[in-house]
Order: sequence, then structure tokens, then C-alpha cells
Amino acid sequence: MAYPEPLEALVAAFERFPGIGRRSAERLAFHVLRDPEARLLAAAIARALDETRRCSVCANISATDPCPICADPARDAGLVCVVEEPRHVEAFERSGAFRGRYHVLFGALNPADGTEERHLTTARLVARVAAGGIREVVLATDPDAEGEATALLVLEALDKLAEPRPIVSRIARGAPAGAALEYLHRGVLEDALTLRRPVRRRPG
Ligand SMILES: [Zn+2]
Repeated sequence: MAYPEPLEALVAAFERFPGIGRRSAERLAFHVLRDPEARLLAAAIARALDETRRCSVCANISATDPCPICADPARDAGLVCVVEEPRHVEAFERSGAFRGRYHVLFGALNPADGTEERHLTTARLVARVAAGGIREVVLATDPDAEGEATALLVLEALDKLAEPRPIVSRIARGAPAGAALEYLHRGVLEDALTLRRPVRRRPG
């Protein structure tokens, strides 16, 4: 027996989300139908889509362009921390340990989920660095296999730039391998930044 078409459409919409299978999508759809506040969710989704954009400098999600961090003259514009996701910016900001600016890649290289270089904002980062004024790029992708592959990708892209090139550093591995950045204790994040090390460039 099929669901009424509007309900089927709602299930299909939930199924589009990452990690949500048919069963979970059905459960969420029935929850929405029972929840008197569900229209607030619909309104919140519409508002988030209408009132956020990507910062033209760092690519992060923001209500303004440039975002508050890129617009803040007190932040060090010469120091750029490259992260996978907006939630990683939030993690660094919560720690208060970083006073530079960011670049958000929006993902990491991942053969399993099909994320390739063209899905990331690497080219925007390279253009930003090529425009000058950046003395150090800190690679702060996750310390897992996808994050390491992505850090290497960014390093190689920056290495193609003409001199003078910025220093490229990688956050130190003070964290357990496989840990997600946003769950790390403040002190661990601080250590990871303080103990960052230069990335060895390939000769030639
Ligand atoms: Zn920005």
C-alpha cells in the first residue's frame, strides 16, 4: 500500500539527507505529521536558505558577505586556517585559540561518498593566496585518512603558485587519530594549533 502522494513526497525529501534511509525517512515524516510545531521547521529551513550565503572571501556560511570574521580588522588576515566544514570554524572560535582567518573547503576528499576536488573550494583558496597578503596557511583538516589526503591536495595546489609562497603548516597531532575536530577539548585544539609544523615541500 502506497502512502498518499504528499506524504510520499515528504519521505522522499528526508531520504535525500545523508545517512537517512527509507525507514528513518518514514519515521521522520510521521513525526512531522504528529508535531504541532512542524511548521516552524519548514519556516526555519526557508529562512536559512533565504538569509544565508557563502562568504566571498572564506566560503563559510554567513548572513553577511564578507562574513563577520573576514570583516573584522582585528583578525590577522595574513594567517589562514583551512578547515573542512563550518562546524570546524565554530570549534576553533569556541576555543578562542586562533586569531587569524579561515577558509572552508566544504568537505574532504572521500572516494566512498564520491567527494572529489571539484566539490571542494580549493580553487578559491588558491586564488585568495595568489592575490597576496597571506604569509601562512594552516591545514586544519581532520586527522583522518580523508583529512590527510585533502591536506596534501591543498599543499600541492599551493605549491603550484609562483614565489613568494606562504608557509604551509599542518596542525599537530595532539589528538587521537580519527577524532573529529569539533569534539576535541579546548586544550587539545590549542596544542594542535601551537604545535603546528611546517609541511615538507617536494623538492623541485
Ligand atoms: Zn569569510
